[in-house]
Order: sequence, then C-alpha cells, then structure tokens
Amino acid sequence: MKVLVADKLDVEALKALKDRFEVASEEVSPERLLEVIGDYDALVVRSRTKVTKEVLSRAGRLKVISRAGVGVDNIDIVAATEKGIMVVNAPAGSTQSVAELSVALMLSLARNIPRADRSMKEGTWEKSQLKGIELSGKTLGLVGSGRIGGRVAEICKAIGISVISYDPYLPEELATEKGIRLTSLEEVLRESDFVSVHAALTDETRHMIDAAALRKMKRTAYLVNCARGPIVHEESLVEALEQGLIAGAGLDVYNVEPPLGSPLLRMENAVLTPHIGASTREGQRRTGLLAAEQLIKALEGEEPEFLVNREVLSV
Ligand code: NAD
Repeated sequence: MKVLVADKLDVEALKALKDRFEVASEEVSPERLLEVIGDYDALVVRSRTKVTKEVLSRAGRLKVISRAGVGVDNIDIVAATEKGIMVVNAPAGSTQSVAELSVALMLSLARNIPRADRSMKEGTWEKSQLKGIELSGKTLGLVGSGRIGGRVAEICKAIGISVISYDPYLPEELATEKGIRLTSLEEVLRESDFVSVHAALTDETRHMIDAAALRKMKRTAYLVNCARGPIVHEESLVEALEQGLIAGAGLDVYNVEPPLGSPLLRMENAVLTPHIGASTREGQRRTGLLAAEQLIKALEGEEPEFLVNREVLSV
C-alpha cells in the first residue's frame, strides 16, 4: 500500500508508517497533489494541504485521509464520503498545547508582555505605562467548551478565574464536571473580562463574533481566538480595536493565513501568533502518532476510533 505524507509529520509517526507501508513524504503543491494523488491508497495532511473535490475526483485508489490534527475544514468531507473514503483525525493530540497558548495570550494581553519586551529592546523603560491587570478574580467566557475550551477552563480555574461558557451542544453534566457554568452567548459577551473562542468552524459559527457581538463586550474586555479565523468577523474586529470598543485581542488564527497586509499587523492592542497553537514538540508527537495509528487501523481493516465520516461505513 502506498501512503503520501503531504505535510510535515513527527519522525516517530513517519517511522511507524514506513515500517508497514511504502511512504512518500513530500510537501506537495496543490498542482503536484492533483498529478500524484491517483497513485496513493492513503494520504496524511495537516492544515496546509487542501483536499478539495477536484483532488478527490482524481484519487482513484484512495481509501483513507488522515488529518494530523483536529480541524478537518481543509478536507471536503462530503466528497470524500461519496467516494467511500474514510477521513480520520487526531483530536486530542494538541489539546494541552492549544489550551496553554490561549492562556499565554490572555496573560500577554493582561500584562502587556509583547510591548514590554519590544520597548526594552528599543532601549526604553516604560515601567509606569505598563500597568496591567491580574487574571485572578476575572470572568472568562468561553465560546465552545469541548476538549480545548474545557482544558482552558481547568487551567483558568487554578488561577482564580470564574468560567462561563456558551456551548449549545455540551451536556450540562459535562460542563459541571469541568467547573463551567453554561449560559447564553449574550451573557458570555456582556459579562466576561476575557472571551476565548474554542468552537469548531461550522456554518453556524462562521462570523459568530461579528460587529454586533463585539459591541456587546465590555470596553475593558479582551478577545482571544485560537480556534479558527472565520469564527470572528475580522474587519469588525479591526474596527472594534480601532474604536476602543474592546481593550484588545489575542489571535492565533486568521481569515486568510498568513494575514498579509491586514491592519491587525500594526495594531498595538492585538497580540498575534502565526497559527502555532498545536506547534509544540509534545503536541506534534502525540498528534502524529495518533494520526498514524488511525491510518494504520483504517488500512488494516480495523475501525478507527476517530473516524470523522462514520456514515462512510454504510456507503
Ligand atoms: P471540540 O470538538 O472538542 O470542541 C468544540 C466545541 O465547540 C464542542 O464542545 C461543541 O459543542 C462546540 N460548538 C459547536 N458549535 C457551537 C456553537 N454554534 N456555539 C458554541 N459552541 C459550539 O474541539 P477542540 O479540539 O476543543 O477544538 C476547538 C477549536 O480549536 C476548533 O476550532 C479547532 O479547529 C481549533 N484548533 C486550533 C488549533 C491551533 O493551532 N490554533 C489547534 C487545534 C485545534
């Protein structure tokens, strides 16, 4: 069986695949992917490679696509399912890494860490201008509290933050277990000192944080988004930051990545990272190994636990 690893994968995960299959590991361009996909039984991707309907139309032998990560919005799941191709992912591998980055962005905003660092290196001593706030005693409002949101809640509770969440699909008992009080989106926006987005990108969540939502937030509140860029309406966020409708934003994800030329890049009250939520040694190792394990199960006839399109089994 032939496997194409089209994005960077952890070395141990790659070895696990090479021990069993014929593996090509090459960061292919979209054009090259169209040319070669017909030769492969399995494909491993992260978020860089887009598995479009056109790619799938040429994937005559493909049986499984393994996403080394959580979000599968770069894969046309409907087209894959129609062709009987299994899509598996590695959902829990990067949970801790993304949760830690979300809290890091909250702390960076609260204590002006990026500006403090920049000003020191420019030879200034802005001690009196850099008064921050403590996280302890504040309210964190989560938009989505699954794996990552839930972990953020656990970390934040240890700091002394109260956690509320809008998540219409999370069972009440699970929320209570994590120490989260479920409420409306309206209350999350109005009451929180930090609003942190951890929902999946769906038709329902696209542009969920729009101009109207941002207007509901406190002027002293911060928005953090380590989920998916399009959940936040970016132009409205820029306006809200320019007009001081909110105090600041910490972002790891963008509408277009990289966000070349975006006004966000020159905003003092935005702390930006280049989609590095899952980019830790530990996270990528766990994610890579889980993605490899799921692919091996799928190719060797065992049902993978993290099958995204379960309906494919009845195609
Ligand atoms: P998850 O599926 O465990 O949790 C998502 C939660 O969102 C669920 O509890 C679900 O009920 C909730 N949700 C769904 N629709 C909603 C809605 N309309 N309103 C509010 N909540 C809603 O996923 P996860 O592993 O916690 O991942 C969360 C997000 O983080 C995803 O968007 C994922 O793509 C993203 N992510 C980002 C990075 C990064 O590098 N920055 C890495 C991994 C994951």
